[in-house]
Amino acid sequence: MKYTTTIIAPATVPGTGAICVIRISGPRALEAADAILRSNRPLSSLKGYCSTFGSIYCPDGKLLDEVVATVFRAPHSYTGEDSVEISCHSSKYIVEQVLSLLLAQGCTLAGPGEFTQRAFLCGKMDLAQAEAVADLIGAQNAASHRLAMSQLKGGYSLELRSMREEMLRLASLMELELDFSEEDVEFADRQRLLSLVEDCAAHCEKLLHSFKAGNALKNGIPVAIIGAPNAGKSTLLNSLLGEERALVCDVAGTTRDTIEETLDIAGAAFRFIDTAGLHQTSDQVELLGIERTHRKLSEALVVIVLLDATTPNEAVGFVSSLSSSLSDEQMVIYALNKCDLLTSDDLNKIVTTLNIFVKSPILQLSAKNGLGLDDLKGQLSDFGSKLLPSEGQTVISNLRHAEELSQTLEALLQVRQQLNSSAPSDLVAEDLRCALTHLGSITGDFTPDEVLGNIFKNFCIGK
Ligand code: GDP
Repeated sequence: MKYTTTIIAPATVPGTGAICVIRISGPRALEAADAILRSNRPLSSLKGYCSTFGSIYCPDGKLLDEVVATVFRAPHSYTGEDSVEISCHSSKYIVEQVLSLLLAQGCTLAGPGEFTQRAFLCGKMDLAQAEAVADLIGAQNAASHRLAMSQLKGGYSLELRSMREEMLRLASLMELELDFSEEDVEFADRQRLLSLVEDCAAHCEKLLHSFKAGNALKNGIPVAIIGAPNAGKSTLLNSLLGEERALVCDVAGTTRDTIEETLDIAGAAFRFIDTAGLHQTSDQVELLGIERTHRKLSEALVVIVLLDATTPNEAVGFVSSLSSSLSDEQMVIYALNKCDLLTSDDLNKIVTTLNIFVKSPILQLSAKNGLGLDDLKGQLSDFGSKLLPSEGQTVISNLRHAEELSQTLEALLQVRQQLNSSAPSDLVAEDLRCALTHLGSITGDFTPDEVLGNIFKNFCIGK
């Protein structure tokens, strides 16, 4: 795609800083920059990746700033177009003046994401990679950075593309059959198609399954802290965060709603959810909080079951009433709180009783004085590292991709059903097309004429 406009925008955040980079991209980038820059070496005389020092003057002839400008020649630039980056001093006034000088040269202000949009439409990156740029910019920790970087490097796109190319080949053969519908021919081997559809469906399922982990790494691994009222849930949240975020009170039922806070542990973000205490109540407000706790509980990947060591009978009752609320996919950490108030003999007795109901180890904590918190963080960090993709493994973290993949899967299962019931080619072709559209829209590959184009390319029918 070739644009006729030349766009401009500051590429660095506004505010106090030493330097601001103003990006110019489009057919007139070098010309417009040369028009406002006085330099011994005009930008139009420079090769790509070369910089020059120069001065920019106000319309009244007064010096505005001394800058460094760098040339990127198409297609070797971020957008794939001729581009210039002007590094000026980061004063709001200077930046505004430089932009208005460039506007006077016929440039236009870029819309949000327009440089990346151009990079996509000029074929510098696919849509999934373009989205990864936004994720990379937003990455706050090692885990989300690693996810975004692997998506940006395109491994995921390659994986989708090879799956799609094979499907496209068979779809083209199906489409060809439609052209010869009178003659009752089958170009596409049904067995081959069926096994391919099954492979692709399994692949989509695997990718979709990875979304839970990918989404958690990107937005914070959801950890629900649950327990009876007064078990110390808010105190634990505050101790983990090192601040007074949740309201701590010794009147039962204080945390009536859920509270969320994010904490980085060993390079991964954990989204802690302090919940309303789970217990029998007729208070309407508390009941709403408890309902929400159950909802949050089902979304959590990690559940910390906090038990009050000073009320062992309640702790046992709580644990035994819990099993139906937890899923096998969740990591459950059982922790006995307020251990500072009991002797080790008493604690051992309680743990022995609890172990009748809980087979996993029980962590001994004092949320109030920090005892056992490092062990808890250690367990969380082990869980976080297990979610990280291993070398070469693909994890999806983008909701749009997850939605498109689930639509692809739905269409593929439909194709499978059609094939198993020997449905006519046009029905199979329609569902295949639908699967291809959804799969292709992840990387931005799909164009409505693509299947048709592929027929001409591969079979040279000659008409
Ligand atoms: P929640 O209802 O589960 O959120 O409980 P809170 O965090 O509000 O705590 C209830 C009471 O228990 C407060 O008075 C806390 O100070 C106290 N508490 C919480 N954790 C501990 C602990 O580890 N040791 C002691 N001694 N008191 C604690």
